[in-house]
Amino acid sequence: MFQTPNLNVFVNNFLGFVQTSSYLPWVKWLLRLFALSQAISPTGWPKSYDLRDGDRFDFVVVGAGSAGAILAARLSEVPHFSVLLLEAGGDPPPASVAPSLFGTLAHTKYDWDYRAQLDKNVGAVHPDGVIYMTRGKMLGGCSSNNYEVYARGTPKDYDEWGQVAPGWEWDSVLPYFKKLEGFKDPAVTENPDHAYLHSTDGPVAITRPQTNSYFNEVNEIVLKSYEEMGIKRILELNGPESLGAAQPHYTFANGRRSSTAEAYLRPVRDRYNLKVTKYARVTKVLIDDLRLRASGVEIFLGGKKINVFANLEVIVSAGAIDTPKLLMLSGIGPREELLKFGIHAIVDLPVGRNLQDHLYVPIVFTGKKGIQSIVQNLLVPTELDSYPVPSQSGYFSVKQSYVLQRPQFQIFNIRIGATASPIILFGLRTLANFDEPFSYSISKANKDREIDVTSVLLLHPRSRGEVVLSSSNPFDDPLINMGYFRNEEDVQTTLEGLKYMLQYSNTSYYKNNGGGIAKLDVTACKQLKWGSDDYWRCYVQNTVGSMLHPVGTCKMGPKGVVDEKLRVHGIFGLRVADTSIMPRIPGGNTNAPAMMIGEKAADIIKIDYNAIYKNS
Ligand SMILES: Cc1cc2nc3c(=O)[nH]c(=O)nc-3n(C[C@H](O)[C@H](O)[C@H](O)COP(=O)(O)OP(=O)(O)OC[C@H]3O[C@@H](n4cnc5c(N)ncnc54)[C@H](O)[C@@H]3O)c2cc1C
Repeated sequence: MFQTPNLNVFVNNFLGFVQTSSYLPWVKWLLRLFALSQAISPTGWPKSYDLRDGDRFDFVVVGAGSAGAILAARLSEVPHFSVLLLEAGGDPPPASVAPSLFGTLAHTKYDWDYRAQLDKNVGAVHPDGVIYMTRGKMLGGCSSNNYEVYARGTPKDYDEWGQVAPGWEWDSVLPYFKKLEGFKDPAVTENPDHAYLHSTDGPVAITRPQTNSYFNEVNEIVLKSYEEMGIKRILELNGPESLGAAQPHYTFANGRRSSTAEAYLRPVRDRYNLKVTKYARVTKVLIDDLRLRASGVEIFLGGKKINVFANLEVIVSAGAIDTPKLLMLSGIGPREELLKFGIHAIVDLPVGRNLQDHLYVPIVFTGKKGIQSIVQNLLVPTELDSYPVPSQSGYFSVKQSYVLQRPQFQIFNIRIGATASPIILFGLRTLANFDEPFSYSISKANKDREIDVTSVLLLHPRSRGEVVLSSSNPFDDPLINMGYFRNEEDVQTTLEGLKYMLQYSNTSYYKNNGGGIAKLDVTACKQLKWGSDDYWRCYVQNTVGSMLHPVGTCKMGPKGVVDEKLRVHGIFGLRVADTSIMPRIPGGNTNAPAMMIGEKAADIIKIDYNAIYKNS
């Protein structure tokens, strides 16, 4: 009789043992490390298409980021469209694929590594008023290096868009959010009050990770403290209630980041009518002056300049910094700005204006004293395939009139166990460009106590900045002026939000553990009495930083750069599809809306070319 080989019996017994013992911490570790090693396998990205000078495609999409990768993948669903996707970077590296290692991507070749400028008397804790404007330079763009929080904003945000760009109201954009979502959280998708707002079968995996029990305990403590302050606990940040706090949902699953490269490009890497060319830096949109028509793009590829042509359209999806730069280099922008650099202005449009971002002000709360909270830091390696720190987020308002419409502030909190000071110092200096005194004072607060680093984000700023050219050389970085606090009301509102959050230190956990607000070293405010109104105003003005959500620099609308079908005013065959088209920044995070824009843009274009029919 045939006998099962002993090895198989052994293997099956072993796997059975692993299955029944998966509650044991060391088994969990092993499984997660194994999952991670599988996850970061380098294979599966689309191969780079070998472009030749003079090649032609129906559509040329510039930038394979959050919006561009989706747009190109969706357009190529139409078998008779030929689509070329051009990306200045290459494949995402393992530190992008592993969900926990995003902090290591800044200032590498995967980052455009821009510097943004704050106005005089703003953000003095940043040497020379400079902040790092990190931007993903690889397939997936910023969806490959961002912090993965999935937060769409509120219906009112999009209803406001609809006022200048019909078709972008909440009811019109919700189906596109749902189209991209592969929501994998039964607590949400099996709850009828929430399920109708989500979809389970879209390409982007969205999860709320099951963390270790210590992280869970921290989440509980923080959310309970918020409840004491009047910020109630809600099931999710994208649900029917817009005020309240929760552990966020993230764009990763099974130990792999769900960037748009992962979710949209990998699955169609062999599609015959979608070509992806990497390390292809577009330096100009070619525009026929007489016909006012975009005919193709100029590209730097492998040290050579080549032109490729579009039979139907060029679509620029290079993000809120590079899209305006590229349009201006191509003769589309404010006439006086282009003239400065000898660029012939083909159409005079407010390109680069209307820059908006979510500014934040950090506050540090000190919690429990003693070495025991170091446990949390030791557990970080067990979360390599997940989120590296316990984090909580939520929305609140201080003004009653806002309550009915939408929140004024978002909070994003991370808890760090005691004695992580060297890592904190490194993070603050390299990611946020905080000066030495400020960074040291934060790390000092953590010497023997756990800390909560809480960011208070202003969701609907009134101030506007701008992106302008620094020269006519496409390889020179543009100037990015953030413009924070140009409108005095933003200072006042942020101050009110900050003061509200200061109450966190009065909640029972902090009182019982002798914690409080860390007294940080803000050189510009030294002469003021700590804790006075003047002090906090000065603190707000000088510790402000960026959540890295720049948007709005090619806004939609009759007075903007593109119309509601994303067509550049005055030029045929040219559209923009990325965060730059947002007339106003939504009150969430900007990756979800960028992806929604990619999805919706694809349908707008398909309808225009009768490749699908409206309402089909
Ligand atoms: C570090 C970081 C953390 C963030 N955290 C979050 C978060 O947790 N949640 C969230 O929702 N949002 C977050 N964001 C913001 C969010 O990810 C972005 O707003 C969004 O991804 C932008 O999408 P986009 O399509 O407009 O541009 P991008 O995703 O930036 O895509 C633009 C693409 O165009 C390419 N490109 C640019 N110029 C050229 C050129 N000349 N030729 C060819 N290709 C070009 C770029 O390399 C890039 O791939 C974060 C951003 C960063 C940088």
